[in-house]
Amino acid sequence: MRTDETPQDETEALLLAAARRAIAYRADPTAHPPARDYAACLAAFDGPLPEAGVPGADVLDALVARAEPGLRASVGPRFFGWVIGNSHPVGVAADWLTAAWGQNTANHFAAPAAAAAETVAARWLLEVLRLPAESGVGFVTGATMASFVALAAARGEVLRRVGWDVEALGLFGAPPVRVLIGEEAHASVFSALHYLGFGKASLIRVPADAEGVMRPDAFEDVLARAVPAGAPLIVVTQAGHIHSGASDDHARLVPLARARVGWVHVDGAFGLWARACPTRAHLAAGSEAADSWATDGHKWLQTPFDCGYAIVRDADAHRRAMTIAASYLPPVSEHERDPSHYVPELSRRARGFASWALLRHFGREGIAALVERHCAQARLLAERLAAEPGIAVLNKVVLNQVALRFGGAAEGAAGDALTRATIAAVQEDGLCFAAGAAWRGRWIMRLSVIGASTTEADIHLSADAIIRAWRRVASAPEAL
Ligand SMILES: *Cc1c(COP(=O)(O)O)cnc(C)c1O
Repeated sequence: MRTDETPQDETEALLLAAARRAIAYRADPTAHPPARDYAACLAAFDGPLPEAGVPGADVLDALVARAEPGLRASVGPRFFGWVIGNSHPVGVAADWLTAAWGQNTANHFAAPAAAAAETVAARWLLEVLRLPAESGVGFVTGATMASFVALAAARGEVLRRVGWDVEALGLFGAPPVRVLIGEEAHASVFSALHYLGFGKASLIRVPADAEGVMRPDAFEDVLARAVPAGAPLIVVTQAGHIHSGASDDHARLVPLARARVGWVHVDGAFGLWARACPTRAHLAAGSEAADSWATDGHKWLQTPFDCGYAIVRDADAHRRAMTIAASYLPPVSEHERDPSHYVPELSRRARGFASWALLRHFGREGIAALVERHCAQARLLAERLAAEPGIAVLNKVVLNQVALRFGGAAEGAAGDALTRATIAAVQEDGLCFAAGAAWRGRWIMRLSVIGASTTEADIHLSADAIIRAWRRVASAPEAL
């Protein structure tokens, strides 16, 4: 049995062992493509709850032995699945310290350094994304919770303007709030809305074009038809469509919505970072005129999981929606900022440390260069693949996302099967990682170039691997 009197040298040995394990893994995360699927991982981890405890060093060995064969190489340079940043070493180092320091970042008194790092990281974030300096920023788990927080502020404010205090009275009996959203908004935004009482069937969906963004003419039409003058209104737009990388036409849509006394929320989980890159900023132009924004740290900023930011122009509305007040919590004066006033949680991780560290490490220029490089790499990857007969690039590669279809003229289920088979062949090969998705009734392969360690050589190697996989599938389609 363990006691709580672990000697200092044992702590040191344990933490050094963990560091060595981590360093060895990071030396080449692609060296061992996962040999184990979920069921095999479950079998490896499973076992009865130990009656007697196990020494820390043994636990660490057991953990590594069970986990490593089932790790996806999402920190590697050729991982293009979903939209996943690299857990940059600078962020990992800051995050190790965050865990070791064990600060409960609820408020500025319980965790002065953590609260201060968050305050400064918030200011830098607004500068780098060129968003209003007066905005409130909540450090949350990801863009899903960022949208939840921002939309809670939106709900409170649009109802307050028609004389309804949702924080006091709740939603039953409240005037109806119209919510307009693109039909191809990210699934997580629909979740955030339903947590807030805006059920899926109650939303007014705006038709999208071939790149998945709202058609401005359809938006105008829906706004005129479905939203009575003066009615509480929330409009949800998107910067960075998950398959195409395209953004809604904010310059046109935001003024229309705001003229209706509405609130515009932008889901910019990764696409908002176009604003940090002078050559890409036009893609999200006009989004700065919105009322709130959701974005991620664990995508383009490369922070370790998990980290997202809820940004709300009206910081009072933000705090009204989130603040937990209790007599035992210290009051804030004008010059203090309590992290928990901007998020749903009270006890929480100090995400400000890794965010501050990475913003400082990259700087404004480094972030611009990272976004620029990923967009160029995505274009290169798309060009290489489009040159191969039977591979079609479905989107305009304006940002870092590439949507692919395999099978040339094969439509419908036949094209789906060829695309699925190619994805499986790429995953089996293991040189790079790509996953699939359903888009506009077809199965696609989606590539997201967003890892900081990806080089041009990795793009060529990956293009070769995908073409190889496709040729194998094409040469034996009867095997499907
Ligand atoms: C990733 C993503 C989300 C969800 O973000 P999480 O960090 O996973 O919560 C929302 N919207 C878009 C466009 C995304 O790419």
